[in-house]
Amino acid sequence: MKLTPFNDPVYISRPMLPDLREMNDKLSEVWDSKWLTNNGPQHAEFENELERRLCASHLSLFNNGTIALMIACQSLRLSGEVITTPFTFPATIHTLAWNNIKPIFCDIDPETMNIDPARLESLITPQTTAILGVHVFGTPCNIKEIQRIADVYGLKVIYDAAHAFGVEIDSVPIGNFGDISMLSFHATKLFHTAEGGALLMKEKILKERIDFLKNFGIKNEEEVVMPGINGKMSELHSVLGLLNLKHVDQEIEKRRQLFSTYVECLDNIEGISFLIPEKTVKSNYQYFVIQIGPRQFGCSRDEVYEKFKKYNIFARKYFYPLCSNYSCYRHLPSSNPSLLTIANNVADQVLCLPLYGGLKQDDVKKICNILLSFKREI
Ligand SMILES: *Cc1c(COP(=O)(O)O)cnc(C)c1O
Repeated sequence: MKLTPFNDPVYISRPMLPDLREMNDKLSEVWDSKWLTNNGPQHAEFENELERRLCASHLSLFNNGTIALMIACQSLRLSGEVITTPFTFPATIHTLAWNNIKPIFCDIDPETMNIDPARLESLITPQTTAILGVHVFGTPCNIKEIQRIADVYGLKVIYDAAHAFGVEIDSVPIGNFGDISMLSFHATKLFHTAEGGALLMKEKILKERIDFLKNFGIKNEEEVVMPGINGKMSELHSVLGLLNLKHVDQEIEKRRQLFSTYVECLDNIEGISFLIPEKTVKSNYQYFVIQIGPRQFGCSRDEVYEKFKKYNIFARKYFYPLCSNYSCYRHLPSSNPSLLTIANNVADQVLCLPLYGGLKQDDVKKICNILLSFKREI
């Protein structure tokens, strides 16, 4: 295979899109109804379908994942300190800050890149009210150990499951763990509604509170029962969700095949490592993320990232920099890099490679060959 640059830029993801005629048909229903938002029929249907697809006891749709997570904190009346991971997208930590909660960063497990339960207990103080875990890249957190610790100390558990649509542990869908899980349906995610998100919860009473909170706290025309915000998903976004839901399994299957091509091509390469889903986990193959050991590979992550661009490949350094190193959080005592050595190391080595249904198997092979051409013998 000749290693020439790709003609068109290759990004890490491309959104799945339904057939435009299908979309037009659905949109004419909305046009005819003149009902564009506020719990319309498309919203109701999408909420039900999703609830069924994800085997959730209760589910509430949102205009985006960030507002959903903010409301999750509100609905559980969290305050004080919440223990979380620094290896995530900024939104996870910002939702705590917007709730006046102090984030306490916990180092990660190098095997899963998720919050390390062995380090949790030492971070708990009388101010701690919850643990906010992230199933980063769709790899489940150690949910059993996190729940055990939460139960001992009477803490709530929230999961940022933005990357984990459709993931299951021992056949149990990911939204069934902790008190609340958040999904993001942003256009860059595997399953999307352009902008959107959802909260999944077991308790009906929590769903009721959450539905008030996302609609200004309005109970009826006469009563406003709590200081809510606007977190509603529109009919237009619901329509896109309903259509994408029909095609998401096909998208996951395509990604699964491309993922295994990556694994075949990059297996046993010195200095390249990656996560393979455990046998007990049903993955959604949303991301293919490698870690580059600069000494063994002879080339650093940053060098690989820059060299890829010359071939028209736009990999992403997810998640670099760590949240604990942002100017708004690095003053926190728990942000001290000496307490987060694994997270800092992982953040310096990770690189997210292109993976989406529309990518060809030959594209993946070419990306791997280009990557291997960067390897320097030492
Ligand atoms: C995308 C993402 C979010 C934010 O979701 P939005 O729907 O874009 O608001 C939160 N957390 C993680 C880990 C994400 O990747």
